[in-house]
Amino acid sequence: MFGKEYECKDCGRAFRIDEDERREPKCPGCESGNVAIRVAQPLPPWLVLKSKAGSG
Ligand SMILES: [Zn+2]
Repeated sequence: MFGKEYECKDCGRAFRIDEDERREPKCPGCESGNVAIRVAQPLPPWLVLKSKAGSG
């Protein structure tokens, strides 16, 4: 169920492709193959603190 996020280098569009898909990642907007994998960003500290405070 995991997917990888890509970002088109040509039009800047971000999109996700399922791991199951074996074909080359292609931009759904301009159909360019010039895409880069987006690195998953860690949760910001303020958001972690907020979620901790809200539980319990
Ligand atoms: Zn594009």
